[in-house]
Amino acid sequence: MKEYKNFINGKFMNSQSGRTFENRNPADWDEVVGIFPKSTADDINVAIEASKKAYKKWRDVPWPKRSEIMRRAAEILIEKKEDVAKLMTREMGKVIKETRGDVQEGIDTALYASIQGRKYYGYTLPSELQNKSCWTRRDPLGVWGLITPWNFPIAIPSWKIFPCLLSGNTAIIKPATYTPACAGELVQILHEAGVPDGVLNIVYGGGGEIGEALLHHEDIVGISFTGSSDIGKRIGEVCGQTLKRCSLELGGKNGEVVLRDANLDLALDGVLWGAFGTTGQRCTATSRLILEEPIYDTFIEMLKTKTEKLRLGNGLDERVDVGPLVSEAQRETVHSYVEIGKKEGATLLTGGEVYAEGECARGWFYRPTVFVDVLPTMRIAQEEIFGPVLSVIKAKNFEEAIEILNGTVYGLSSSIYTKDLAKAHKAIERAETGIVYINAQTIGAECHLPFGGMKNTGNGHREGGWTAYEIFTEVKTVYIDYSGTLQKAQIDTWEK
Ligand code: NAP
Repeated sequence: MKEYKNFINGKFMNSQSGRTFENRNPADWDEVVGIFPKSTADDINVAIEASKKAYKKWRDVPWPKRSEIMRRAAEILIEKKEDVAKLMTREMGKVIKETRGDVQEGIDTALYASIQGRKYYGYTLPSELQNKSCWTRRDPLGVWGLITPWNFPIAIPSWKIFPCLLSGNTAIIKPATYTPACAGELVQILHEAGVPDGVLNIVYGGGGEIGEALLHHEDIVGISFTGSSDIGKRIGEVCGQTLKRCSLELGGKNGEVVLRDANLDLALDGVLWGAFGTTGQRCTATSRLILEEPIYDTFIEMLKTKTEKLRLGNGLDERVDVGPLVSEAQRETVHSYVEIGKKEGATLLTGGEVYAEGECARGWFYRPTVFVDVLPTMRIAQEEIFGPVLSVIKAKNFEEAIEILNGTVYGLSSSIYTKDLAKAHKAIERAETGIVYINAQTIGAECHLPFGGMKNTGNGHREGGWTAYEIFTEVKTVYIDYSGTLQKAQIDTWEK
């Protein structure tokens, strides 16, 4: 068990409140993973002061020099990959092959930043006047608040930290209360890589207290938030009042469509990985399966057999497929949705109960659950459950399948299994989601491509790839007039 402290201006600090909280292993509640300061607005104020000061120097460091630090961070993360992955499994429960992938996403994002530092392009455009040049550049904004959820403890902080810092901003990160340790390790790696004091600070504590303090502070120029749609709306509201830049990556209710001509074995592997990977606690998790009528009965039979073979247990065991839920409260939420599904008249195909055999009795395990005969309007088909619960819906044909796919308030990820090229293209065109997969599951983003969703999944920004840099920079349009005369756009003519 490690005792963590806030890291502000290059120094470890306790909270001025003197309070702490502990983080426990969801697969083994007896294990305390770490103890953390329970910070207050006073601690946030200190971090913001340090970050403001650091910004004045950091913004002048050339992009390629900043990117060298990002490369060093990637190298250190590569060395520590296994240790960080194991810490993550202990901290939030997902199985070790997935936590290795989570750390790898951090490494990839750091390496992408190391390249991006030498190629962040502006535009050069012709002027409508003679002897005048026009171009754009991108500049940093200042001190950012980065607020992250618990389900991707390295990947999501990385998606924010690397583009934010590479762009010349400074930041305070407030990680989720369930996963503070991994974020703390990442901040130390960046410090070791050469990020100067004050440029990146971490303050631990509750969202309602220090998250709110970040939102309301007048020296914070922007908030980059990933989390639930409910908290996202609150953040958007406060940022709107003070005109802070605000990027929101929120919830999902993702659907996999399997058409009658699909490769069913492939679609089955896709839905098992999409629905029960990370115990269903991914924003892109497959929580709805939409089957075309002719293959419905066959597919649910195949699904039942394979779902029941999934092995539950402590994610550090390489043989385990499904780890625990992150907390007791999350398990209760999942179970309450199972009760709702039953009351709504859906048929429970498998699962629907707590799993407490052997060592699993000490953790927050829940059996992978499948409901069939689900109607698109039922709550289990509409609301984000964030657990291992899959709702299977029957569609008469392709058109109805796409209508069901789009029939939620969310719009993050969708997947269509078919061999029909025309239907695949039509689905890509019609899907109201920021990410569309053809013949692949709803999960599996790559760091160099835009990531984000439509409708209640966000406010139009995209993390990942080059688009993340658009969030963290301001476009500056530059006109240089070398004519030596007064020239007037829209008024002068070239014949003059
Ligand atoms: P959450 O409850 O919304 O919390 C997210 C973060 O916000 C946490 O750090 C939380 O702190 C903080 N927070 C809570 N209340 C706040 C407030 N009033 N002001 C400022 N910050 C506040 O979400 P979660 O349970 O951690 O994560 C699950 C959700 O994230 C799901 O809805 C999932 O779909 C979504 N998600 C979306 C994406 C995406 O890219 N679209 C990716 C991953 C997850 P505490 O931990 O201290 O409460």
